[in-house]
Amino acid sequence: MSTQRTTREWQQADSAHFLHPFTDHAPLAAKGARIIERADNIYIWDSEGHKILDAMSGLWCVNVGYGQTALVEAAAAQMKQLPFYNAFFQTATPPAIELAERLAQVTPPQFQHVFFTCSGSEGNDTVVRMVRHYWASLGQPERQVIIGRNNGYHGSTMAGASLGGMSAMHAQGGLPIPGITHIEQPYWWAHGRPKGLSKDEFGLVAAGWLEAKILEVGPDKVAAFIGEPVQGAGGVIVPPKTYWPEIQRICDKYGILLVSDEVICGFGRTGQWFGCETMGSRPDLMTFAKGVTSGYVPLGGVMVSDKVAKVLIEQGGEFEHGFTYSGHPVAAAVALANIGLIQEQGLVERVREDVGPYLAEQFESLRDHPLIGDVDTCGLMGAMLLVKDKTTGEAFPSELSVGMVCRGHCFGNGLIMRAVGDRMIIAPPLVMTRAQVDELMALIRRCLDLTLVDVA
Ligand code: PLP
Repeated sequence: MSTQRTTREWQQADSAHFLHPFTDHAPLAAKGARIIERADNIYIWDSEGHKILDAMSGLWCVNVGYGQTALVEAAAAQMKQLPFYNAFFQTATPPAIELAERLAQVTPPQFQHVFFTCSGSEGNDTVVRMVRHYWASLGQPERQVIIGRNNGYHGSTMAGASLGGMSAMHAQGGLPIPGITHIEQPYWWAHGRPKGLSKDEFGLVAAGWLEAKILEVGPDKVAAFIGEPVQGAGGVIVPPKTYWPEIQRICDKYGILLVSDEVICGFGRTGQWFGCETMGSRPDLMTFAKGVTSGYVPLGGVMVSDKVAKVLIEQGGEFEHGFTYSGHPVAAAVALANIGLIQEQGLVERVREDVGPYLAEQFESLRDHPLIGDVDTCGLMGAMLLVKDKTTGEAFPSELSVGMVCRGHCFGNGLIMRAVGDRMIIAPPLVMTRAQVDELMALIRRCLDLTLVDVA
């Protein structure tokens, strides 16, 4: 247990020693980090005693909410029984085997095998090596190229950041690594809301960019396409419903592996167990992390379809890849308890049939606010676009950083909501009730009103 210190003492020690992820440390040191000390259900408390509604589930991960003792007890029991053993040398532990079995039950039917990692980034690194090894095992080693999307996010390791299409990440460290290329994202607003095209027609056009890229690279050189069913870190970009079925058709046409990055969309977030089920694709590989343990302990992995697993097992020989903690027994025990809770509490169904549609209805009602140009939801993910002029859709000047202004008001008013450019996004815990959605909406309206005063 940590010692008791004042907020200022924590902040001083923090800026003296802790390099945070994705953080500019000079302004952080000047301001001091917000110290989060405890949590329960959908709320967190900071060191000043403020109660905050966590509409981002930590970092898109605390699907079952905070304070679930079943997960804590599962971890403690497993630590006592067997805190660690590896899976490298023809050994395995019961929780890891049981989790592999359980994942085969809750994922789409083509998946019977899993490769465990510790994070989503490691999962996507595994994907890069696995798809190239798959094609080499089939005698097609020239199939190396993996196609991702601009503004996609697949993690922060060298391969993960390369698969992603975040230009600021590519600008540091000489990315992407060789053999990775990108297409545009299916974001209607970023493409100027093309006149004369319905959203569904736009979805087909956007999927067509994949076919154009495959033809540019050469179909016999393309190994796989990777995408998030709904782009999360890119701003909760919900694609038109035509998009993923057309992507699937194109991958099938050229025999290219389809990889669904389910790190955010998995484990109920979109109202199905996995986002590909909501969006209508049939991936060959699926990366997961976050919601598999609801973030209580780190765990990730790759679901491997029968088509790929057969080649790896029968023709691949040894796959020279793995992590010390692949199949960590404590993480596996927590994941089993977490999946059990999602099932017992019917959280996926609740998102699909109850709280998800209710959130969508409430988000729609925000369209009357002078700042809101558009809203989007999918299950328990939501985004609202802040615009200067809602009749023309004119954006705010970027130097105004309207999203950050709004985020500042959220921070000061007991709400965690994230800003991606001018999009304000949420992904609350799946245990959220309708009454808590009402509470969230009241906070959102208050923060939008305060933002309007600042930017009007
Ligand atoms: N893929 C997606 C879609 C993500 O959103 C993230 C993290 O936010 C990752 C991969 C990387 O996961 P991790 O941070 O566990 O490495």
